[in-house]
Amino acid sequence: MMSYGYKPSLSEGAIKCPVFQTSTFVFKTAEEGKAFFEVAYGLREQRANEEMGLIYSRLNNPDLEILEDRLCLWDGAEECAVFESGMSAITTVLLEFLKPGDLLLYSMPVYGGTDHFINHFLPKIGIHPLGFRPGMTENEIRSLVDNIGHKDSLAMIYIETPANPTNTIIDIESCVRVAAQYSQGDKKVLTAVDNTYMGPLWQHPLRHGADIVLYSATKYIGGHSDVIAGAVLSSSEIIKRVKTLRTFLGNMAGPWTGWLLMRSLETLKVRMEQQASNAVMVADHLLEHPKVDKVYYLGCIRPHSPAYEIYQRQYTSPGAMLSFDIRGGEKEAFAFLNNLKMIKLAVSLGSTESLAEHPASMTHAGIEPSHREEMGIRDSLIRLSVGVENYRDIIWDIDQALEYV
Ligand SMILES: *Cc1c(COP(=O)(O)O)cnc(C)c1O
Repeated sequence: MMSYGYKPSLSEGAIKCPVFQTSTFVFKTAEEGKAFFEVAYGLREQRANEEMGLIYSRLNNPDLEILEDRLCLWDGAEECAVFESGMSAITTVLLEFLKPGDLLLYSMPVYGGTDHFINHFLPKIGIHPLGFRPGMTENEIRSLVDNIGHKDSLAMIYIETPANPTNTIIDIESCVRVAAQYSQGDKKVLTAVDNTYMGPLWQHPLRHGADIVLYSATKYIGGHSDVIAGAVLSSSEIIKRVKTLRTFLGNMAGPWTGWLLMRSLETLKVRMEQQASNAVMVADHLLEHPKVDKVYYLGCIRPHSPAYEIYQRQYTSPGAMLSFDIRGGEKEAFAFLNNLKMIKLAVSLGSTESLAEHPASMTHAGIEPSHREEMGIRDSLIRLSVGVENYRDIIWDIDQALEYV
C-alpha cells in the first residue's frame, strides 16, 4: 500500500509523491488532449490499457489518483473517489443515485449532517426518507417498508454501523438481503455504508455485500485533526457516475489534502491498533468505576447475545470509540468534561489525541429530545474517542475529572 500507484521515475526520483500543486496539465499534442476529453466526458469507452490522462485538477490530479488507488486496497474496492469532506462524499452519492419519487431507507441515528441532509434537503426534491432502528429484525424492516405504501420506489438503504454515539450495530448482510428483495430487473436497490467509525481497518462492508462504502476521511484516515476530507469506494461502474457528478459539483479534494492523507495512510494501522488497545483498557476501567453507570463499547457486547454474532462476523476489533453514562445528568457530565486536563473537549473522532464530548448538547443537539431519549442519547452520556497516548495517562485524566462529579 505504501508505494502503490506511484512511480519515482516520473517525479525526478523523489521517494515520496510530491504535492502536485497545479490547476492544469500540459498536453503533448492536440490529439492527446482530444483523447483525454473523450474519456473524461464519457464520449466513448476507455480502450484496454488506456489510462485517463491528466487534464485539470477538478477532474484529476496525481495526489488524488494515487490516494484513491491506495484506499481501494484497504476495502478491496475496484475504484475510489476522494472528496473535500465526508459530507460532500455522502451528499454526492445520495444525489447521484436518488431521484424524485424515490424512497430512501436509512438507519437511525446517523451522523447529524447526514441526518439533516436526508430529512431537510432530500424531501425538497421529492425524495422520501424512512428511518429504521438498529435491533429491528429483517422482517420488521420489510414490514416498515411495505407499510409506507410505495415500496416499489425503494432505491437505497443507507446505514451507519456502529451507530454514533451509542455503538449499536447493524447487520450489513441482512440489509443487503432486504435490498435484493426490493430490487427488480435492472433496478437494483443499492446498499451504502458509512464506515467512518471502524474503517478502513476493522470493518469491510463490500465483503458483506454492500455496494458503496463512504468515509469521513477527516477521522481515522486523516487521523491528526488537521484536514477535512471524504471518500467513496465501490465498483468501477458506480464510481464512474460518482466522479462525473463530482466533476460538475467541483467538490473534489485538492492536491494538498491528497498528500496529507497519503502520509496519514502510512501510519493508519499502527495508530488504529494502538487506539483500540488503549480503548480496551479504558473501557475495562470505566466498567469498574462507581460514578459510571453504563459503558457502550463493542468489547462489552455479551457473548451469545444476537448482537455478538453480528459483532464476530462483521468486525475484527472492538474499535476505539466508546460512550458511557455517568451517574447523574447534564450537570455531572459537564463537571467531568470541564475538568479534563489532557483529553480535549471537542467533537470529531479518530485522531491521535483523545477527545471527549457531550452528544445530547453537541453532536446530536439537532435531534428532537424525545427522539434522542429513545435512541439512548441521554444527558448523562459522554462520548470518548480514544487516542494513541499512554493509556495510563488517559485513565488518570478520566479518574481525576470524575472526582469533580
Ligand atoms: C464526521 C462524520 C461525517 C462528516 O464528515 P466531514 O468530513 O466532517 O464532512 C460523516 N459521517 C460520520 C460517521 C462522521 O463521523
